[in-house]
Amino acid sequence: MQQIHNTINTWYLENARDLPWRRPGVSGWEVMVSEFMLQQTPVVRVLPVWEEWMRRWPRPQDLAAEPLSEALKAWGRLGYPRRAQRLHAAAVEITTEYNGEVPRTEAELLALPGIGSYTAAAIACFAFGERTVVVDTNIRRVHARLFGGMALPEPSPRASEFARAAEVQPEDHQAANLWNISVMELGALVCTARSPKCEQCPVFQQCAWIAQGQPAPHYIPKGQ
Ligand code: SF4
Repeated sequence: MQQIHNTINTWYLENARDLPWRRPGVSGWEVMVSEFMLQQTPVVRVLPVWEEWMRRWPRPQDLAAEPLSEALKAWGRLGYPRRAQRLHAAAVEITTEYNGEVPRTEAELLALPGIGSYTAAAIACFAFGERTVVVDTNIRRVHARLFGGMALPEPSPRASEFARAAEVQPEDHQAANLWNISVMELGALVCTARSPKCEQCPVFQQCAWIAQGQPAPHYIPKGQ
């Protein structure tokens, strides 16, 4: 396992996209806004809107001071505008309950509007370096292939996937945090849903799905 950890973490350091919400020194709020926007919208569409939001509302209290209608307008074409509504409600709560500071623990984050288990784990890890187990669609897919030998993860997340995600994490705290983002990026760039670029994959040799002869998916994904 340690070799897989090192290989994927090193691959990330050399190949990751330069995304503004991943740069050193970003605030909890910057990460939180990016996570809300990325929940259902691709990176390229999120980038300009996130930049605009951060210019306009660099802290939760700046957004909280504005009427909800402004947040909805600035959400623009990201889709699923209920996220803007929840983000605004979360900004108000952070301002009143946490003195304008995004809370850093998963439990506190989970209690905020619009934050589910993935988003809480992601913000706690990416913004504050807390040790969490991050499990999103990309990570589920990489784990299913690399460790499970399956073409796709189950249609909806299972408890066993979360248990495996915790089990395969590096023991070292820093390496575990890097692992969360590295596996996610591998899923976004290489181990993609429809046509994984296995020939470019740093863990091709260790991949269970490759070793088993790339078996077909055990169900037909929605939309195909
Ligand atoms: S070899 Fe292919 S299927 Fe396996 S982890 Fe890499 S990209 Fe995914």
